[in-house]
Amino acid sequence: MSQRTAVSQADVIVVGAGLAGLVAAAEAADAGRKVLLVDQEPEQSLGGQAFWSLGGLFLVDSPEQRRMGIKDSRELALQDWMGSAQFDRDEDFWPRRWAEAYLDFAAGEKRAWLHQMGHRIFPVVGWAERGDGRADGHGNSVPRFHITWGTGPGVVAPFERRVRAHVEAGRVAFAFRHRVDEVAVEGGAAVGVRGKVLEPVPPAFERGTASSRVEVGDFELRGQAVIVTSGGIGGNHDLVRKAWPARLGSPPASMVSGVPAHVDGRMIQITRDAGARIINDDRMWHYVEGIRNWDPIWANHGIRILPGPSSLWLDAAGKRLPAPNFPGFDTLGTLKVLRESGYDYSWFVLTQRIIEKEFALSGSEQNPDLTGKDVRGVIDRARKGPGPVEAFKQHGEDFVVADTLTDLVAGMNRLAEVEPTGPRIDEGELRRIMEARDRQIANPYAKDAQITAMYAARHYRGDKLSRVAKPHALLDPAAGPLIAVKLHILSRKTLGGLETDLSGRCLTSAGVPLPGLYAAGEVNGFGGGGMMGYNALEGTFLGGCLFSGRTAGRAAAAAL
Ligand SMILES: Cc1cc2nc3c(=O)[nH]c(=O)nc-3n(C[C@H](O)[C@H](O)[C@H](O)COP(=O)(O)OP(=O)(O)OC[C@H]3O[C@@H](n4cnc5c(N)ncnc54)[C@H](O)[C@@H]3O)c2cc1C
Repeated sequence: MSQRTAVSQADVIVVGAGLAGLVAAAEAADAGRKVLLVDQEPEQSLGGQAFWSLGGLFLVDSPEQRRMGIKDSRELALQDWMGSAQFDRDEDFWPRRWAEAYLDFAAGEKRAWLHQMGHRIFPVVGWAERGDGRADGHGNSVPRFHITWGTGPGVVAPFERRVRAHVEAGRVAFAFRHRVDEVAVEGGAAVGVRGKVLEPVPPAFERGTASSRVEVGDFELRGQAVIVTSGGIGGNHDLVRKAWPARLGSPPASMVSGVPAHVDGRMIQITRDAGARIINDDRMWHYVEGIRNWDPIWANHGIRILPGPSSLWLDAAGKRLPAPNFPGFDTLGTLKVLRESGYDYSWFVLTQRIIEKEFALSGSEQNPDLTGKDVRGVIDRARKGPGPVEAFKQHGEDFVVADTLTDLVAGMNRLAEVEPTGPRIDEGELRRIMEARDRQIANPYAKDAQITAMYAARHYRGDKLSRVAKPHALLDPAAGPLIAVKLHILSRKTLGGLETDLSGRCLTSAGVPLPGLYAAGEVNGFGGGGMMGYNALEGTFLGGCLFSGRTAGRAAAAAL
C-alpha cells in the first residue's frame, strides 16, 4: 500500500455520486455547506444507474396526463400505491409515511421543481404496471409513466449542472475512486468515512464498465454529517439470492444483470456496522422480461423489454401463464408464477406486427431517439418500430424469427438447449393454444381475459397510438413472421434498505436517529427503508431518489 491520503474535512460527506447523491450534494451546497461527494467509480460514471435509465417518472394529475384525457388524482394514486405496497409490518411505519409524503410530491411540486431546472417530458404518457386486475389491488389504474425528453441523461443533467457549479464555486469537491469501507462513529455520532483509494482507470475507460479494485492508498474524510447514497444490491447476484424471499419461490440459478457492477450493495452492511438499521431487505423488484444484450456494456448485461399487452406468454414448458399475468401487468405476480414453473426462463410468442408496436427496451442507450431528443427519430419509431428492437431481432441470441410455426418451434427448441436449459416445446400443443386464442379475435369482445385487456387498452389514446397493436390472429401469415423470445429474470431494484425518518436520518435498532447519519435513494428503499412496500408502480425509483436525496441534503445542511 502506498501513501496515506491527507485527511480532508467538509460539512457534509455524500457517499455515492448517483442521482440521489447528486441531488443531496446540490441541495446541501445550495444551503451554503461544504460538501465532499465520494464515489468508488471514476468521473466517467457520474450519475450512476440514472444515466442508463429510461428516465420514466411517476407523476400524478400532470398536464401531460390531462392532455391525453387521463383523469388522475392523489386519491386514486394513494389507492393504487397502498394496494401495491401492501404494508403489513411494524417496520412499515416510516415507509408508509414516506409513501404519503412522496405522493404529495408526485401530485404536487415535483414536475414544476424539475421544469424550472430545464427538465422536459415526452408528451405521450405510458401505462406501466397495469396491475393484478383488482381495483384495490396492485397496479396503476391509469397511465402515469412520464418519459423524460432526453431519458436518463436528461434526469441527471440538471443536478450534475448544479453540482459542477458548486465545484467551480469551491463548495463541492469530488473524490472519485474513493471506496468507502467504514463509516466513522465517535461518541455515538457519524463523523466521517474511511476507505481505500482505488487505482486510476485508463483514459479509454467507458462509462458503466467494471473498474479495477486495485487499492493504492487509504483515506479518511471527516464531516459533521454523512449521507449514504450508494444504491442497491442488483449487481451482486449472490446478495440478491441471499435476500430472495420464500414468497417468490426459490432464487433463480440463472439471471441477467440489469445494472452495472458498481451496484454491489457493500455499503448496506458497512452502514449497518456503524449502527444503522436495515429493514425490508427481502423486498426487491426484478423483471421477468430480460434479454441478453447482444452488444453488452457490463458483464452479463440484460435489457428489459417494456412490453405491450399482446404477446402470448408461456412458461419454459410451453404452458400459457394464467390471467392476469399478461405482459406489463404484474411484475412480481408473474415472477412468482414463473418461479413455480421450476425454470429460470419463459417465452413470449408474437408477430412482427406486435413487435413493431409493442416492444420498447428500457435504457437510455436503447432509445437513441428519445435520449438524443431527435423528433424525426421518434416519428420514425411510431411508423416502423424502434431501430434497437430490430437490431435485437437480428442479432439477439434470445430471438427466433420464422415464417412457419414448425420452424419457430424448432428454433425455440434449439434455444432450450442453451443455458439456462429447459424442456422441449411441443408444436402440436403450442398450435392448439394459439388457435384457441386466435378464435377469440373474430369479435371486438372475447372471453379470453388477455384479449379483453388488449381491447380495453386501446381505449386509451396513447396505447392505441403507439403501444398496443390492433388485435389479430397470431397465426395470420399477413401479421408475420412469427417471433419467439426467450426471457430471462433480470435483476434490478432493491425495495428495502436503511430505515430513515422523514428527515432522512438513519435510525438505530432502538428507533432513534443516529446523529450525523443520513441516507437517500435506492440504499434507503427510495425513502424510509422501503416506501414502495412489496410492489412498485414504476417511475417511482428515480422520483424516490429525487425526493429522498433532496430531503436528506436539506435536512443535513439545516442540522449543522
Ligand atoms: C437500465 C435502467 C433503467 C431504469 N429505468 C428507470 C426508469 O425509467 N424509472 C425509474 O424510476 N427508475 C429507473 N431505473 C432505476 C433507477 O435508475 C435507480 O434506482 C436509481 O438511479 C438509483 O440511484 P441511486 O443514486 O440511489 O444509486 P446508484 O445510481 O446505484 O448510485 C450509487 C453510487 O454509489 C457508489 N458507491 C456504492 N458503494 C460505494 C462505496 N462503498 N464507496 C463509494 N461509492 C460507492 C456507486 O459507485 C454509485 O456511483 C432504471 C435503472 C436502470 C439500470
